[in-house]
Amino acid sequence: MITKILKTDDNSIAEAGRILKDGGLVAFPTETVYGLGGNALLSDSVKKIYTAKGRPSDNPLIVHISDIDDLGELACEINDNAKALICAFMPGPFTVILRKNKIVPDTVTAGMDTVAIRFPENETAQRLISAAGVPIAAPSANISGKPSPTKAIHVIEDMNGRIDAIIDGEDCDVGVESTIVDATGEVPVLLRPGGVSYEEICEVVPQTVIDEHILNSLSEGEKPLCPGMKYKHYAPEADVTVVEGDMRAVKKKIDELLKENGDKVCGVLTMSENAYDSAIILSGGTTNQNYAKTLFSNLREFDRLGVEVVFAEFESRDGYGLAIRNRLYKAAGHKVIKV
Ligand code: AMP
Ligand code: MG
Repeated sequence: MITKILKTDDNSIAEAGRILKDGGLVAFPTETVYGLGGNALLSDSVKKIYTAKGRPSDNPLIVHISDIDDLGELACEINDNAKALICAFMPGPFTVILRKNKIVPDTVTAGMDTVAIRFPENETAQRLISAAGVPIAAPSANISGKPSPTKAIHVIEDMNGRIDAIIDGEDCDVGVESTIVDATGEVPVLLRPGGVSYEEICEVVPQTVIDEHILNSLSEGEKPLCPGMKYKHYAPEADVTVVEGDMRAVKKKIDELLKENGDKVCGVLTMSENAYDSAIILSGGTTNQNYAKTLFSNLREFDRLGVEVVFAEFESRDGYGLAIRNRLYKAAGHKVIKV
């Protein structure tokens, strides 16, 4: 298949909208990561998304809308907590899980009776969804298991020849996926930390709880509330170890680890001004926000540079801490050294 690379002018967006409406697949920027969209109301188009990504069919998709009034068509039994969260965080990097209506095909929800809904804030995403005139099912536009794409070039690397079109738009601002909250029960449950922090959610619904699987690996055979949790995620080819804590202690530990791994191509992802000898250094900046924004592209860059072993400095500093830990721990297969 030949993949069209489209820009963000009105004609290109209209063309991409038509492709989506007719059942084709289009990747597009959002404020979180690039999405791989298909018409959420056409089962055949949704199936193509799973195939293009190599995504297991029991891992449901998020449905994207560009008008809050479209929510009522897709979901029902929206309780007061859900309404408050929707009102506070949509549009934005936030996904709400609600009871689904019949119109949503089972392929989207992997047979579950709930549906995940998001209203992105990114203008290109909104224009595209409006142009399509239908809700858009869209997971991240990466090959399953790889770090999510935050730049058009990442999508081209993974999806060229597999989908109908890629919108070559802006880099993603947030850099990690949306926050997911299950609002179907009496107490909302945070299933995935992301662009909206747990603290911000608690300001709106203080009873919200955090699902225990966010930072821990699952035990054998355990069934999580959020099916995506059971899969290896965000992992580069390189072997990643997180070294977490005070930056002076982190530096000392990583120096030791670099010595032990002297026979390998080593990389360090920094969150400080620390300097390291005999390693390829990529900077995540010095704030959580910048670290989150650049995390996936840095992981991809280590692979591109042929790095075999990555040591990632980390110290939680502000709002995105939980979201970064969740992604980083998974990328590292839960190899975390706390110093
Ligand atoms: P991605 O689209 O790659 O960002 O992944 C979407 C995430 O949302 C996956 O981890 C899914 O398991 C999760 N998800 C989608 N729909 C539901 C749902 N109805 N209930 C719980 N989790 C969901
Ligand atoms: Mg994904």
